[in-house]
Amino acid sequence: MPSTVVAELRDITIAFPGVKALDGVDLVLRAGEIHALMGENGAGKSTLIKALTGVYAIDSGTVEVGGRPRRFSGTADAQAAGIATVYQEVNLCTNLSVGENVMLGREVRGRLGIDWSATHRAARTALELLGLQIDTRTSLSSHSIAVQQLIAIARATVLESAVLVLDEPTSSLDRSEVEQLFAVVRRMRDTGVAVLFVTHFLDQVYELCDRITVLRNGRRVGEFPTAELPRRELVSTMLGRELARLEAIEDRALAVGAADSTVPVLRVEDLGRKGVIAGASLELRPGEIVGLAGLLGSGRTELARLLYGADRPDAGHAEVHGRPARLSSPRAALAHRIAFSSEDRRSEGIIPDLSVRENLVLAVQAQRGWARPLSRTQQDAIVERYMTSLGVQPPDAGALIRNLSGGNQQKVLLGRWLATDPELIILDEPTRGIDVGAKAEIQRAITDLAAGGVAVLFISSELEEVVRISQRIYVLQDRHIIAQVVNEEDIDVDDIVALIAEGTAA
Ligand code: ADP
Ligand code: MG
Repeated sequence: MPSTVVAELRDITIAFPGVKALDGVDLVLRAGEIHALMGENGAGKSTLIKALTGVYAIDSGTVEVGGRPRRFSGTADAQAAGIATVYQEVNLCTNLSVGENVMLGREVRGRLGIDWSATHRAARTALELLGLQIDTRTSLSSHSIAVQQLIAIARATVLESAVLVLDEPTSSLDRSEVEQLFAVVRRMRDTGVAVLFVTHFLDQVYELCDRITVLRNGRRVGEFPTAELPRRELVSTMLGRELARLEAIEDRALAVGAADSTVPVLRVEDLGRKGVIAGASLELRPGEIVGLAGLLGSGRTELARLLYGADRPDAGHAEVHGRPARLSSPRAALAHRIAFSSEDRRSEGIIPDLSVRENLVLAVQAQRGWARPLSRTQQDAIVERYMTSLGVQPPDAGALIRNLSGGNQQKVLLGRWLATDPELIILDEPTRGIDVGAKAEIQRAITDLAAGGVAVLFISSELEEVVRISQRIYVLQDRHIIAQVVNEEDIDVDDIVALIAEGTAA
């Protein structure tokens, strides 16, 4: 028996200045099904949800809910039509009680206005139907985000929503919270609600969802019954790789060749931060280029941020040259000679209105303290050394950096961190968005660095370049390191893709 279509989006296009977030996308939601919306970061998942829930106006295309064409003017409008949305940041009233939140706008009325006892009783019933025992008189803010999300779902049942949308609800939840959420979502499905579930955790899709729509670069790649889409095909579909190239790859023993006995520059064990990275262990040795591979959203940048102190871990420990070290801030990391170059060249990297010279000396200057300005001669030495070795074009230190090409800005950023004389440099997407020539030059600069004894942690979305220049590769999936690959001759990109698809968290 085919299930009823509850909501249907056809040929949806939404453009923002400079980017077509959605380009002719279709999405069909059916009663009694959990539908996963998958795609790398930036694929258009949130935008599609906002098209459905009336947050964004649609440039072209149609939305039908309950068989009628709709054009929602906002979330309240969509909600009135039966579409409930639960975000990671819960949109409830934290100063009201649990019961008031569940029943907001549907309070039970008596002869003298709202009958609060009856309202709380109704809220309790709604919660209990989902298997939740929560005191409805407690304030919403006294509960964890996980519980608040469950309360938001209970509210959707009171509103008799036909569609429940969950946009990455699980990113900050621990395992038992996820279990509880899934139990509630399954109950919703079993009552005939159409659930749209956005996540980038592959395991969760296979655990929970009946059907999958995959987006890539604002387009719909396809809709598949989960049972008919093996994990590897899902990943290659998300990445846009040719299936034909992904021959079945035997599970290889991908162990570390413990040939090198030098003490690691940095070693971390079970490093974690709740909801961000789970128990990561890795080591980086002098002269080694180590790649971090994984889908966008798999936790690459988050792991890097823990390693250089931008975020604090809440578990595990770190050693620098074999001694326990606290990398509590980027400054502390730099004192341990660990430098980091951000993936966000524009907002965390270059300072557009300063010259190339000023941009180059910035990290060294910050390290010594602004009270002790570098002399012109010291600046010249840095400028001379890195402009030449990195081949910055034009070779004019006085030029404003914003007038340089992306590739040359990236070289200046690299030079900025190299000038601090790091023993470990973490490079997050150092070649993103730059032309092939500059890309090759940066790759060469990185291999030169390693040849000079610097440890490099290299993060890139392009698996080809990770495989090309890394000696070892850690593979991340769903915020876990799931494998470590020694990059020998027989390793290629398909091996890494297979690991991302099939590796499971230890
Ligand atoms: P996802 O949820 O799959 O990670 P999004 O839907 O958030 O992806 O984003 C899709 C694309 O649209 C991205 O390129 C993103 O940068 C862009 N985008 C999303 N929202 C806006 C906005 N409000 N203004 C401009 N660009 C946006
Ligand atoms: Mg999103």
